[in-house]
Amino acid sequence: MKKTIKDFELDNKKVIIRCDFNVPIKDGNIEDDNRIVQSLTTIKYAIDHNAKVILMSHLGRIKEESDKEKNSLRPVAERLATLLDKEVIFVHKTRGPELEEAINNMKPKDVLLIENTRYEDVPDKLESGNDAELGKYWASLGEIFINDAFGTCHRAHASNVGIASNLPSGLGFLVEKEYNELSILTEPEHPFVVVLGGSKVADKIGVIENLVTKADKIIIGGGMAYTFLKAKGINIGKSILDEENIEFCKNILEKYNDKIVLPLDNVAAKEFSNEAPNRVVDVEALEEDEQGLDIGPKTVELFNNTLDTAKVVFWNGPLGVYEFSNYTKGTESVLSKLVKLNAKTILGGGDIVAAATKLGYKDKVTHASTGGGVTLEFMEGKELPGVVSINDK
Ligand code: AMP
Repeated sequence: MKKTIKDFELDNKKVIIRCDFNVPIKDGNIEDDNRIVQSLTTIKYAIDHNAKVILMSHLGRIKEESDKEKNSLRPVAERLATLLDKEVIFVHKTRGPELEEAINNMKPKDVLLIENTRYEDVPDKLESGNDAELGKYWASLGEIFINDAFGTCHRAHASNVGIASNLPSGLGFLVEKEYNELSILTEPEHPFVVVLGGSKVADKIGVIENLVTKADKIIIGGGMAYTFLKAKGINIGKSILDEENIEFCKNILEKYNDKIVLPLDNVAAKEFSNEAPNRVVDVEALEEDEQGLDIGPKTVELFNNTLDTAKVVFWNGPLGVYEFSNYTKGTESVLSKLVKLNAKTILGGGDIVAAATKLGYKDKVTHASTGGGVTLEFMEGKELPGVVSINDK
């Protein structure tokens, strides 16, 4: 078990919290502050326990000097001040006397935000490369380190692993929840059913390889199903194909044929657009110039029957082009079944969580993971350096 923020005496201590404030910002305006809102629980806990709260985060990618200004965390500091209803001291620096003085002047309950950690990536990738001196320096600014940024836990950076290696450390509430919920999937109750969708097989190979032995069934829908159908010798028309991975799909089907559940029918159109006329058609009957953009009603029934007795479900990737209103029905119908199951239901990865949010199902599942890449790497069975580096209880 890893230590958490609750295992520390925070009173009057300089507590560094690594947050995930990587929010979409356009022309200085935050377009979606969900990540900031989610981080409030840990920040408020630290304030309530009289800590001097030092916040760090990355924002976007910094490849050259000119990327810096548009990726400043200043708008985040302003939004955070509004959400907390309290002053947030913003230091437009990632090191140096101005930062050190501002921290030395902090009183208990003060909140300070350091500039985007990835400013240190120009010119030498010190943050992303987990430079030992940088990790040590940042650690010297505080007394306790809390990692609450799940989205970067699959990477060893100076602002997570680097600091954790030099200070007493624990998990924040967000990372603790993510980690505990996803850990259920490492030794799941059975039947354990996995639902995979989305466009590319390539991104999910590691997940399929790791889960195919653990899961009782793997339901495959969305664009990636067509590479599996092609591997079975079915004509998929113009549907999306991951040519390089046909062989992989063939091998999986040969070895685990009884576990893999593929679509029977689909909603197909001649163009990748919401406006083009479409029709429901069996997968074998797709015309040369048609592409499947959603699963059809027979497939919904098959998938829902497969889910019926599940005790644990992990779902990554939408079952159709959910961004188009005419192709959300498959994903929606299976989501509506999912939330009625007497099972632990976990959504992992950006697109299925976005689809569930849009369709109103996000709050009805056991857990909707905020991580994208990190969730997939966890599901591949890989260790997460951002968690491993935290002190054990
Ligand atoms: P991924 O990032 O691999 O999880 O893919 C998510 C994307 O897959 C979404 O943008 C969906 O629109 C897309 N997708 C789902 N089903 C299909 C399909 N049948 N054809 C093309 N794209 C699809």
